[in-house]
Amino acid sequence: MTGREDEALTKVLGARSAGPLAKLGLTTVGDLLRHYPRRYGDPGTLTDMDRLALGEHVTVMARVARATVRTMRSRAGAMLQAVVTDGRHELALTFFAKRAGALRPHEEKLQPGRVGLFTGVVSEYRGTRQLTHPDYVLVGVDADDAEAAMFEASRPIPIYPASSSVPSWRIQRAVRTVLDPLTEGDVDDPVPPEVRARHGLPSRLDALRAIHQPVDQRSWQQARHRFRFEEAFVLQAALAQRRAHAAEQEATARPLRGPGEASLLADFDAALPFTLTDGQRSVGEDLAHELAQARPMQRLLQGEVGSGKTVVALRAMLQVVDAGGQAALLAPTEVLAAQHARTLRQLLGPLAEGGLLGGAAHGTRVALLTGSLGAAARKEALLQAASGEAGIVVGTHALLGDQVQFADLGLVVVDEQHRFGVEQRDALRAKGRVAPHVLVMTATPIPRTVAMTVFGDLETSSLTQVPAGRAGITSHVVPAGNPRWMERTWARVREEVDKGHRAYVVCPRIHPDDDLPAGGGGAAKDFDDVPDLLELVDGEGAGDGRPPLRAVLEVADMLRETPALAGLDVGVLHGQMASADKESAMARFAAGDLQVLVSTTVIEVGVDVPEATVMVVFDADRFGLSQLHQLRGRVGRGTAPGLCLLVSTAQPGTPAATRVEALAETTDGFRLATLDLELRSEGDVLGAAQSGRSSSLRLLRVVQDADLIADARREATAVVDADLELGSHPELRAAIAAQLDDEQEEFLERA
Ligand code: ADP
Ligand code: MG
Repeated sequence: MTGREDEALTKVLGARSAGPLAKLGLTTVGDLLRHYPRRYGDPGTLTDMDRLALGEHVTVMARVARATVRTMRSRAGAMLQAVVTDGRHELALTFFAKRAGALRPHEEKLQPGRVGLFTGVVSEYRGTRQLTHPDYVLVGVDADDAEAAMFEASRPIPIYPASSSVPSWRIQRAVRTVLDPLTEGDVDDPVPPEVRARHGLPSRLDALRAIHQPVDQRSWQQARHRFRFEEAFVLQAALAQRRAHAAEQEATARPLRGPGEASLLADFDAALPFTLTDGQRSVGEDLAHELAQARPMQRLLQGEVGSGKTVVALRAMLQVVDAGGQAALLAPTEVLAAQHARTLRQLLGPLAEGGLLGGAAHGTRVALLTGSLGAAARKEALLQAASGEAGIVVGTHALLGDQVQFADLGLVVVDEQHRFGVEQRDALRAKGRVAPHVLVMTATPIPRTVAMTVFGDLETSSLTQVPAGRAGITSHVVPAGNPRWMERTWARVREEVDKGHRAYVVCPRIHPDDDLPAGGGGAAKDFDDVPDLLELVDGEGAGDGRPPLRAVLEVADMLRETPALAGLDVGVLHGQMASADKESAMARFAAGDLQVLVSTTVIEVGVDVPEATVMVVFDADRFGLSQLHQLRGRVGRGTAPGLCLLVSTAQPGTPAATRVEALAETTDGFRLATLDLELRSEGDVLGAAQSGRSSSLRLLRVVQDADLIADARREATAVVDADLELGSHPELRAAIAAQLDDEQEEFLERA
């Protein structure tokens, strides 16, 4: 390895220039070179100086009007003040120096009439807009001849993610200092030359020059493409290695019991109140086969909301318990964990009372472990897990704790993946003596390239049908400002309840006087109710004069006073409630003691009350589409049709309105997920998946770059298959290691 990208910037640039860059997290040559321009200024377009915003980094094409040097009375030193104009408005340029002589070169260049590009951060001094120490190039002066100067002046100007202490032009200068002396040998390229050749990609050094010092638009575009490929390639190589390493690991085979033998799985199947769909059956067979191998299963199960993923997972868990192992089921919320434990115990009946009087001999126990368990209950659950008495341990993040031990962990199921990352999977996996089998379930179907990027180390199975006999769900948008529509909404809720059904009412906040949405204060345990509000990611809402978000407690009070709902029992559910209260609210709602449940998005994933037929979502226009789709998947799960009423404050014709309308029109989760992704930046997509990969993916876009990701995956897999430890690709190996370090760091920071 000859690369110089590990060199400290303090060494290359000196402490004075390197100091401010360190504030942006840039400490090595590589950090700086990977700090790509956010966009490029077009020097051909004059900036309308009237519109220059204070504090903004700008680039202005303008003509020098005048320039004067004077010594300052107030403090030692001299000042050069020039004024440039776009023909209508003026902008001051100010330079300071210890001696007037030091300003002479500027004075000589900034002669009236000359045209140049001036770049810097806009400030204001005594009512005049100015740039202090702007970087500039003058046409016909800075280059040897006029033609070269025009050429210089026509180049795109890189504009960097900057801060007030480190303006873009200073970054540009530092990059130039670092980049100019580099030669091919100084720069490590993780993309092998033959792969580059096949895809027409420039070398890493050429691409670095083109992205930081582009000659024209085409050159930075090509460079960006190359770096996107590189990001995808390194990531896919890392994933290919993970897959290959996992395949080499040993696991305990957990074969199915023979036909005549007593088995939890057989008893469970016999007790199921429905027949499995074809998809459930065939995915189930795949899982059964893989669990019987002495190699760890690594599988992602994705499927439409309500397609019955849970049953598939439970059956896999029972197979493992039948074979003498334990299974852990990791759920994203306490409510969901408790529900899974309840469902399991119900369906297993006496089989879940193994070791108890009257329990079946081949029975087992189901333990529940969540963060808010009392000390005694927690100890009991830990004991059951460690002794092996509990064949099935259901829990939240609490399962990842150091104290949690298993006698013989054979299968880890992660339900509704959304909020668990690779690291959490690894933490659980590490609890087995040998590698346990792993099954991950996503909450909604996800686009292929997201699956490849976020879950690329897993094989994928899909459930495409929902069980027959479902009456389906209809959705309507209700304008919040229209009292007649709101009245009609509550009347519909009443009608449903009168038929013996139940209603959810979802709000983004808990308390009416909290500024933050539910969970936004970080107080929520186990991620119980973190709404996926778009304004948090794209700056919509907040301070734009729209009404405040509706809150659970306020809406519950309002509903208790609503004439149409008179006599009904309205309950609340949110993440700040004690665990026992949450459980009891869910249980009372399931039993019908409460007919209306006002809640946060805590019910988003997996909550299953078949009698619930209607859902009212307040501020629907502010939620992410995938989350809304998940939410409404809570109704219409039984044989009665579901109804989802999306209360929206969005003005007709706005993107927000269009979004909710799209939701009302389709129940295709796949389409909605894609649409949702298109509305977000990549950081949010990957951040939402908590993959910890956001730092290594700077330019890659998981939706738009689908083909590129597929190409990179193919190439990376071929490279890794031929050379698993990458002995002949040290540069790729180093890039993967660096990426893992980043992920690790982020994981530790979050923990
Ligand atoms: P999801 O895929 O969204 O996790 P669930 O596993 O929660 O879906 O299943 C949704 C509902 O459908 C549950 O009430 C479950 O008991 C029921 N269910 C699952 N499979 C079938 C089936 N084959 N036939 C009828 N109902 C089913
Ligand atoms: Mg589910």
